[in-house]
Amino acid sequence: MADNKAIVCLNYAFRIQDNPLLIYCAKNKLDIIPVVLFDESLLQKLGAAEKLWLDKALEDFNQQLGQKLLFLQSKQELKELLKKEKISHLLYASHFDSRINIDLKDLTKGLEKLDLVSLPVNYIFDPKEIRNKSGGIFKVFTPFYKHCISQKQTYIEDQIKNHLSNNIQKHIEILKLKSPNSLQSYCLKAKEKKDIAWQNKMLKHWDISEKSACLKLDNFIENQAQDYLQSRDIPGNEDGTSKLSPYLHFGMISPFRIWFELEQAKANIHHEACDGFLRQLCWREFAAYILYHFPSSKNKNLNPKFDKFPWKKNKALLRAWQQGKTGYPIVDAGMRELWETGWMHNRVRMIVGSFLIKDLGIHWLEGLNWFEDTLFDADLPNNVMGWQWVAGSGVDASPYFRIFNPMTQSEKFDKEGKYIRKWVPELAKLDNKWIHKPFEAPELILEAAEVKLGDNYPKPLVDHKQAREEALATYQSIK
Ligand code: FAD
Repeated sequence: MADNKAIVCLNYAFRIQDNPLLIYCAKNKLDIIPVVLFDESLLQKLGAAEKLWLDKALEDFNQQLGQKLLFLQSKQELKELLKKEKISHLLYASHFDSRINIDLKDLTKGLEKLDLVSLPVNYIFDPKEIRNKSGGIFKVFTPFYKHCISQKQTYIEDQIKNHLSNNIQKHIEILKLKSPNSLQSYCLKAKEKKDIAWQNKMLKHWDISEKSACLKLDNFIENQAQDYLQSRDIPGNEDGTSKLSPYLHFGMISPFRIWFELEQAKANIHHEACDGFLRQLCWREFAAYILYHFPSSKNKNLNPKFDKFPWKKNKALLRAWQQGKTGYPIVDAGMRELWETGWMHNRVRMIVGSFLIKDLGIHWLEGLNWFEDTLFDADLPNNVMGWQWVAGSGVDASPYFRIFNPMTQSEKFDKEGKYIRKWVPELAKLDNKWIHKPFEAPELILEAAEVKLGDNYPKPLVDHKQAREEALATYQSIK
């Protein structure tokens, strides 16, 4: 007879608080053997930045679990553990991001007495359960969102009550076994890939721990949330958004906790500000919902009309975009912020995306791949949703003919050039009038600001007006 002992595979559920897998164990009085399982094929699918974060997240999580986390490198290792220990339950996190999802069903063969439990851990709503009134799939965000919040009382609050929240540690027993692999050897491959200086630069901007995620949320609610609606679109305002996205992606903070705390905050903060933030959180739910129902959208246009689009294949242009050397300051600032910090402001993600797809005529998948390799929050559902939205090929997307003008976007959302000055310091001495479009500035102004176009700052890769017309003409040809 198996003991009441569970192996719990906690991939991308790197938190103690509000963790449905641990709560399940507490409720069913199961002793826990915590494991993570990253085999070669899974690691290969992760971007360089993501692997860097993973390494730090595992270190923190292991510490929180009293150094009891087992690092498994193959299903075979897990199978051996299942056989060796008297295990009654195998629990694992299920994910809507196909890159990181692992299915453990095949491990139960020959182990009839083993209960297999797979739980979604990082989303509030279950995509399988959500249908519109006619039983179909929501393809537009606002009705999806209204549907979700209409379930607030009956679903979200019940779910929150179900969570044991802060005192989970008192209710679980974690067992200590010898890990077959050390943490140090575990993510080494990731570390070797890119240079150490780049890694240190990226890591300097983040404190990668569950505790820090919770502090970030508390700080956001206390000091930033009331201004969220006004400041979320201003990239120069460093506290304009929560920067919780990597923590959400890695399961280091629970969306239930975020929802619950925002609801509580309504006592002190404008309801509109809290709801505005929760609405963004629902975009994340919508992205997972769409990818769940349309899995091929991870690399195919949701609107097949775009399959005929004659994308350009130009490595030099793509490289210049990746390196933040397009000659358009707001685009370059965004791409450099990404390279330096592993994160980019949402408004700027839209601007750089539009520039790649519409000004440079390059397929959105190239942008998605670059983001996937360099973002700490490289989250497949959100990334796909973001890129297909910008390209106009997704559900509820921005129409293709809505082409962002990088100068006017910059003038509107970075009026004083604060964001550009931070990330493109060679333009810092230009005044507010010219910083958004140095290529139009008179020679004397450039000279006074020590800007040498084509020398210390690139000339524009393309003429926006011309590129826009070309893009619209190409679009007409596929309509
Ligand atoms: P906040 O404004 O504080 O919002 C709170 C949370 O809500 C975020 O952490 C995020 O989980 C969710 N959220 C906010 N905006 C969006 C949105 N537009 N779509 C979906 N969820 C949202 N987000 C990722 O997490 N990973 C990606 O790989 C990713 N790729 C993107 C690619 C493009 C081209 C675009 C336009 C957007 C992309 N986004 C992606 C969405 C968005 O830019 C980030 O979630 C957001 O910038 C994260 O910053 P924050 O945590 O400060 O957001």
